[in-house]
Amino acid sequence: MNILDSELIQNQLLSSGYEFVDQAEKANIVLYNTCSVRDLSEQKVLSRLGVLKKRKDQGEKLVVGLLGCMAERTNTDILEKNPHIDLLVGPSRLGEIGGLLHNLRGERKIALSDFRTRKGKSLEHEPMDSLEALDAARLTGSKALKSQAYIRITRGCNKFCSFCVVPRTRGPEVHRSFESILNEAKSLVDSGVLEITLLGQTINHYPEFAKLLREIHDQNPGLKRLRFMTSYPRDFTDEALDVMASSERICKYLHIPAQSGSDQILRRMNRGYTREQYLDLIRRARERMPNISIVGDMIVGFPGETEEDFEASLSLIREVRYQNIFVFKYSPRPGTVADKRELDDIPMEIKKLRNNRMLECQNEVSLAEHQKAIGSRLSVLVEGYAKIGSKLQARTQGDQIVLLEGPISLIGQLVEVQITQASALSLTGMLSSGLPPEALA
Ligand code: SF4
Repeated sequence: MNILDSELIQNQLLSSGYEFVDQAEKANIVLYNTCSVRDLSEQKVLSRLGVLKKRKDQGEKLVVGLLGCMAERTNTDILEKNPHIDLLVGPSRLGEIGGLLHNLRGERKIALSDFRTRKGKSLEHEPMDSLEALDAARLTGSKALKSQAYIRITRGCNKFCSFCVVPRTRGPEVHRSFESILNEAKSLVDSGVLEITLLGQTINHYPEFAKLLREIHDQNPGLKRLRFMTSYPRDFTDEALDVMASSERICKYLHIPAQSGSDQILRRMNRGYTREQYLDLIRRARERMPNISIVGDMIVGFPGETEEDFEASLSLIREVRYQNIFVFKYSPRPGTVADKRELDDIPMEIKKLRNNRMLECQNEVSLAEHQKAIGSRLSVLVEGYAKIGSKLQARTQGDQIVLLEGPISLIGQLVEVQITQASALSLTGMLSSGLPPEALA
């Protein structure tokens, strides 16, 4: 969600005439779009703000902006120790940044949400005016659209998992209208986008989600891949799974965080499902789509997590056979129920150990699953160069990384590859049918 927000802010500013530089040291305006999910990310932002403060103290004319969840969570409190911040903008007001910058004139601007002061009032059907404007800026601001794009369909969350700060920073769940999502999808596909990822904190809670998937798929034959994230285990209907299974170009991919494999931890996390209910959803998905890729999130070191609870998470990983998981060491987030009611009683040393053991467990699963792909022919979308080495990096529709040799002209193209090698993190392949005509042009 933050990658999308940053891209849309950039487009908004480009269309207002701002130019971008490649290093913060060369910029007159520095904006940090922030995440509050973990304490570590906030600490990094505070340290970078410290560097900017020194520059301003030395007389440099610089506009400093703190955007996103950290601005919302800390509210104006952050200004006490960081009086050099000129712009404080929460996630629901990012569409206003262009206007706020334009009107700064040496005076600080603050744009945070008011959902905290509107308790009890449903925002479910309120238009996301500011965010709609931000999303629309993509189509006018960006000259060269890439082959992949995100579309936000929902913002905020109503679940209140006990560890999570998101409902306090991004506010209650608000859905975009069917029509605006369909229009945006059509515009993107008409501009050459091949893969769309729909975004929402609990995306499958969108009303008539199955219908939305089907309509985007059916109305856009030029769209080669449609995927979505993040799904919430409790809300997944059979209808949505049926649409996924029967629509050829909807990726057989689910990002569906379990967070723990232990029922007592899930209860204290207020996740609203049991291990068995989670496994039942995985079974329902695999019955319809035997090769579906399942990706998950796990938290280690939640308060009170015993060795037995942790082992239950490891056994869930082996049972689900995730394609990949994101592992987080628990850190208490101010204002959350877990922070108020639970003692952060698992020492950091144990959290680190569990983190590493969990990654090792997942690596074993990933390697075994990847090895099954050797010899198969897969369609992949080439995204760019791999971070290490000279190979290109591509992705399967199940979001597996595939490394391959090929010319730069393949970037942005869908090609067929023959898988030749596998590791826990990626597959290696070779072009199986020569270069596509687009790459030769
Ligand atoms: S579902 Fe839970 S973890 Fe996910 S955003 Fe909502 S509160 Fe946070």
